[in-house]
Amino acid sequence: MKRTLGEIVRLSAEYLEKHGVSDAGVEAEYLVSSVLSLGRTAMYLNREDAVGEKTLKILRGMISERAKGKPSSYLTGRRDFYGMEFLVDEHCLIPRRETEILVEEVIRAAEANYCAARPERHIRILDIGCGCGNISVAVAKNVERALVSAVDLSYGAVLKTCQNALVNGVYTKITAYRGDLFSPFENTAKFLGYFDIIVSNPPYISDGDIGLSREVAEYEPRGALAGGRDGLDFYRRIIPTAVFFLAGGGGLFFEVGPGQKDSVASLLAEHGYDDIVSLRDYGGVDRVVTARLPSGAGCGK
Ligand code: GLN
Repeated sequence: MKRTLGEIVRLSAEYLEKHGVSDAGVEAEYLVSSVLSLGRTAMYLNREDAVGEKTLKILRGMISERAKGKPSSYLTGRRDFYGMEFLVDEHCLIPRRETEILVEEVIRAAEANYCAARPERHIRILDIGCGCGNISVAVAKNVERALVSAVDLSYGAVLKTCQNALVNGVYTKITAYRGDLFSPFENTAKFLGYFDIIVSNPPYISDGDIGLSREVAEYEPRGALAGGRDGLDFYRRIIPTAVFFLAGGGGLFFEVGPGQKDSVASLLAEHGYDDIVSLRDYGGVDRVVTARLPSGAGCGK
């Protein structure tokens, strides 16, 4: 018996719900629509159409993987972020909604503090731990004179950043490097005091919390999540070193995890940064910490 599109969505939702997937209805609709490449309206208009056997087979596989816990974005290979579509795979973290606050802040600061002050050249931005390139691409797309360097330890992530720069039309504004934090920039004097903005959403989950979400721990790359004993390892490494690579007056922009704001702010103050400000996410969690290197500080250019 042939099943209709509407029935398939309903049965998939029931199956996911039975297996404890939250928002089962939305997830089922998303997976079916992505396999059939149909938008919401087309899904509705075609709900009485029969679904072919080949499509059903692919869908069954996907729904069963989803029921076991695999995130939908790894099944479809796609994720929306900041109004754009990003290709994702198991080599990179799935972009999170709250990271849009960090992006928004970088774009705002680039325009308010750097674009007018540096009319003669590009605004130089470094994204540390770029993952699929969501931050780099969103900033490059929205800051006209941005020139972004993106770095990640994972080859897979660097490749995804390049693909996402290409599909989102900003490949001339982004260079992606494979390396550990600042390592791609250490062998030439060019990058000393070079960047106007350094942004990072580093791995910040503490060892004790890493197992809290099975879905996250089992499927997303550990290297993109684990921030050491207290989750602060990467802030401890980035904050002192960024002093050498930031231009005087340059800005450092971090996403932080719940409860980490004060420790990150103290580290920043300890290393001579000022204008330390934090911002909350939609859930009221302190999520972004920003600071500035005083003009005349660092390697100044
Ligand atoms: N920059 C990417 C993001 O914000 C990846 C971050 C990470 O891997 N920790 O989603």
